[in-house]
Amino acid sequence: MKSKIALTIAAILASTSALAIVPSEQAKRLAKETILVDGHIDVPYRINDEWEDVTVATPKGDFDYPRAVEGGLNAPFMSIYIPASYEESGGSVLLANRLIDSVEAIVGRAPEKFAIAHSVADVEAAFKAGKIALPMGMENGTPLEGSMDNLQHFYKRGVRYITLAHSQANHISDSSYDLRRKWHGLSDFGKQLVTEMNNIGMMIDISHVSDDAFYQVIELTKAPVIASHSSLRKFTPGFERNMNDDMIKALAKNGGVVMINFGSSFVSNQAQAWGKKRSDAMKEAQAKDRESFDKQYRQNNPYPFATLEIVLDHIDHVRDLVGIDHIGIGSDYDGVGDSLPIDLKDVSTYPNLVQGLLDRGYSEADIRKILSGNLLRVWRQVEDYAAKH
Ligand SMILES: [Zn+2]
Repeated sequence: MKSKIALTIAAILASTSALAIVPSEQAKRLAKETILVDGHIDVPYRINDEWEDVTVATPKGDFDYPRAVEGGLNAPFMSIYIPASYEESGGSVLLANRLIDSVEAIVGRAPEKFAIAHSVADVEAAFKAGKIALPMGMENGTPLEGSMDNLQHFYKRGVRYITLAHSQANHISDSSYDLRRKWHGLSDFGKQLVTEMNNIGMMIDISHVSDDAFYQVIELTKAPVIASHSSLRKFTPGFERNMNDDMIKALAKNGGVVMINFGSSFVSNQAQAWGKKRSDAMKEAQAKDRESFDKQYRQNNPYPFATLEIVLDHIDHVRDLVGIDHIGIGSDYDGVGDSLPIDLKDVSTYPNLVQGLLDRGYSEADIRKILSGNLLRVWRQVEDYAAKH
């Protein structure tokens, strides 16, 4: 009996040590010495839902100051996330302002640790000062409410990208998740908005929108665009939320960048299939309490967590298709629940990603482009275009 237990313990130890990647000094140094931008982290909505002080270690969530420092994270885009239901219910301007206030409150509470960032120069200055910059991106353009004055307002408040739509069509654009194609791409206002966003210096984020909307944006925009948190459809066939090869090529031609989402259901077909099965089971059970159904379902059907390797496969594929200049990171930390890949569980784990890239032969210069160089190039181009118009 005793030996059986010892054997089991040995087996567990062996399996965990085989799974866990240990970043080298080189990987840790690279993460630390390079500005590291993440295109999408859902801290504001998380703390709006269940408040925690992220300027110190928090028991929950994927982001807090000590873990961000450990991971070498320097400029996480704070997502000003507006659920799609606000398009109908109203109140989105109030929610957006409150979420922006909450980002300012983080900086106000710990100005020695964090700084607001409204520009590339702000990000660089914060990095030099040893602070974490908090740029902001608005996920879902609903708070614009069809008004260019609102665009001005949110620009002034520091929002530097807008994801045109979220999970449903809004007054700007169709959504990849919404099978009713209300506008067959962008609405008339959406088309005007592209031009105004270019002129004001607001990055256009094409994550979440339908394919038609994406191609219309690409045709209209005068500046490069971003996908703040999208992965590749090649690995998740039929999942329109991710980008196909043709779109990646169009994005590269535009000079833009796709920031890879880490969520297992974004990177792995197995996790996609698991999600579909669970939805079907939930429908069949006519479950009212989604949370307890989920818990039970997970117990009986273990979640197929993706791995660091498959995230690296996505990065490889973009590089093979269009080169190194169009890849970034858009983890979706604090936005995808308990579905993050092994070895990429929270903001302390970016050095694992860097190690993975080194192991696959990426040069330090290439890794720097992925960590921030490409996104900062796009942001600078967007700033320059606006300065001239
Ligand atoms: Zn999202």
